[in-house]
Amino acid sequence: MRRRPLRVLISAGPTREPIDPVRFLSNYSTGYMGAQLATQALARGHRVTVVTGPVREPMPAGARVIPVERAQDMAHALQRRAPRADVVMMAAAIADFRPVRRAARKLPRARTHTLRLTATPDIVGGLPRHKGQLIVGFALETGSVLARAVRKLRTKRLDVILAQAASARQTPFGRTRVRAWLVERNGVVTPLGRCAKPAIARVLLDKVEGLWYGQASLRAHR
Ligand code: C5P
Repeated sequence: MRRRPLRVLISAGPTREPIDPVRFLSNYSTGYMGAQLATQALARGHRVTVVTGPVREPMPAGARVIPVERAQDMAHALQRRAPRADVVMMAAAIADFRPVRRAARKLPRARTHTLRLTATPDIVGGLPRHKGQLIVGFALETGSVLARAVRKLRTKRLDVILAQAASARQTPFGRTRVRAWLVERNGVVTPLGRCAKPAIARVLLDKVEGLWYGQASLRAHR
């Protein structure tokens, strides 16, 4: 049986949450994990859309790229495209907080300044879902990595979560190896050791294809 290519929707990079016209809150995400997922999915013949925050890593030719800035913009872009996606892979490091309001003018220099922050929406938790769609999340944690990842997998209703250990000594962002585990909804945990991101992308695409085409062959046999 010929396998139909999957429509893969990937979120990548950081978001930027504006403070005033010239400043923002963000994080060190480079978009490398998202770019590797896109490269690997395209190499396997799938159709790829990447919704990406501002990144320095280039996205592969062949992917449809939708650039966004704020978490709210990323949420809208993903909500619009999720209904047509077979697989959603949430590699973006979405800012968890944003300033309550963006100042209309550049804030003047002062000895101290207090910013009031509010939580950004849980994007993956709020995506429209459809039957059979697979959702992959990422969890970057310091301490109790697996317990926290399992909790996120459950609360965000993910099929698979890639848990990564962050340490105070080394940034997990960019072209670096990370200690990683693949955690599935059925409770199976596969330790990947210290793994390069292209290898993580291959493992995740193998898992997604296994789950997707496995479901399809089960459907065909009913
Ligand atoms: O930041 P956190 O570790 O909670 O992220 C876990 C997963 O949830 C990631 O896949 C991330 O892309 C996603 N996320 C989200 N909306 C947020 C924060 C994270 O969808 N506001």
